[in-house]
Amino acid sequence: MLNTAKILVADDERIIREGCSRLLTKAGHYVVTAQNGQEALEVIQKDHFDMVLLDIKMPEMDGMQVMEVLRLNQSDLLILVITGYATIETAVDAMKAGAYDLLIKPFSADALRIAVNRALAHLKLAWEMEELKKEQARSLKDIANEQSRIRTIMNSMACGILVTDDENRLALYNPLAPRMLEMKSQCIVGNHIKDMVEQQELVDMLDQLYEQPDAFTTLERELQLSERMWLRARTAAVRNVEGKTLGAVTVLQDISHLKELNRMKSEFVTMVSHELKAPIAAIRQQIDVLLKGMAGDINEKQTHLLDRAQSRAQGLINLINELLDLSRIEAGRTYSQQQPLDLAPIIRHAVEFLLPQIQAKNQQITCDVPDSLPLISADPSNMDEVLVNLLNNATKYTPEGGSIEVRAFASGDFLTLAIKDTGYGMTKEDIPRIFDKFYRVKNEKTKAIAGTGLGLPIVKGIVEAHLGTIKVESQLEKGSTFTIELPLLSSETMSTAQC
Ligand code: ADP
Repeated sequence: MLNTAKILVADDERIIREGCSRLLTKAGHYVVTAQNGQEALEVIQKDHFDMVLLDIKMPEMDGMQVMEVLRLNQSDLLILVITGYATIETAVDAMKAGAYDLLIKPFSADALRIAVNRALAHLKLAWEMEELKKEQARSLKDIANEQSRIRTIMNSMACGILVTDDENRLALYNPLAPRMLEMKSQCIVGNHIKDMVEQQELVDMLDQLYEQPDAFTTLERELQLSERMWLRARTAAVRNVEGKTLGAVTVLQDISHLKELNRMKSEFVTMVSHELKAPIAAIRQQIDVLLKGMAGDINEKQTHLLDRAQSRAQGLINLINELLDLSRIEAGRTYSQQQPLDLAPIIRHAVEFLLPQIQAKNQQITCDVPDSLPLISADPSNMDEVLVNLLNNATKYTPEGGSIEVRAFASGDFLTLAIKDTGYGMTKEDIPRIFDKFYRVKNEKTKAIAGTGLGLPIVKGIVEAHLGTIKVESQLEKGSTFTIELPLLSSETMSTAQC
């Protein structure tokens, strides 16, 4: 901030020069003096001054002439004219020539101080304005630089980016995004995303984002554009410190090659499983022949060994069957036999099927299922597979003497099926992973229990293929509840289905 100034006092009267110099120096200013106009100009050209006190009437070159020269090349220098001729004409002439103010001789120390301070305030204001202008110019440049940097980064990324505002209007995008989404209409900033994007799942996902309460929400969808073209869209909400959603950033990734790889892998697994199934079944049959004594007598030790070989062969057959089931589900061939279905007899059948196993462990089973249930649209053998898998798990992962409860009821538009056990339960960390292929919880209690880790992925695949959901509540050492919800067949669909 400017509180002191560099001031030139140009007057031919020594008493004025020295008086002004003394007073101004005392006020903290830096003062230089000149005896006439010529000398004043020479001093100004050599050094920078903020202000000049300029006498009008001086020998050789008067104040008016000095101002003429200064107006051409020192326009920002503040001139306070000192004059003994206080006429209106003199004042007007001085102002026209570029003077900022006028001091009439003789003037008091106060008059000088007031005039200099006023000029100083003016200088300060001009300086502050100048700084503000510089600051503005700098921030505009920064913004321009920042924008071009963001654009360069976005344009060079190998994924598509869409930035949308809180009303799902496009705010920013990179050229890859419209190309990946195969957008037919032009991508225009400010237009609503639903008017430009054909993939309804993407529009729905952006809408859903605003329904999520969490501060840092991300949602993910796989979008199928054509038979072989797949995109993964991951949307993250952008929120301010108060938690208000300002918009969303969506990143699009081409996952077609991953899908293709997965398809090839599934095909390979299916092929290998098929090839293995027949010889292993044959091995099992041959062992069976040996065990039944049809190929001659066998002793106790041989029986024991053959028993073990047969149970391992059966284990392999189970694994192969589950792998084949899973690849069938993954290929979308699950509910080809879809029909209006009452789940009640299927539940009873599955319970009866598992009853010997349950009783062998002295477990109690209660079945709170009405004689018939409202219809769902489902494949009976798929539903049987779901129930047998879940009941089998309930008994397997519950110790002797425990209990199992099966409930089924309709509420709203859904049929709910819940299988609860008082078994080993799971930790919070295990729960989200049990639907992954081959995942098995291994602890002291469960490590000896045989299994493939494919049952639950199969169950989930079937439930989702029937547009249902499955969830688990579980507590270690307390037990687990698996709850499935399946959409009920509406009366409209029923009449169409029955036609
Ligand atoms: P498998 O039973 O063949 O190992 P699943 O896919 O059916 O495979 O189950 C995966 C894992 O989930 C099991 O290994 C087990 O650890 C856990 N699990 C499944 N059901 C239950 C249950 N009712 N109680 C406790 N753990 C369970």
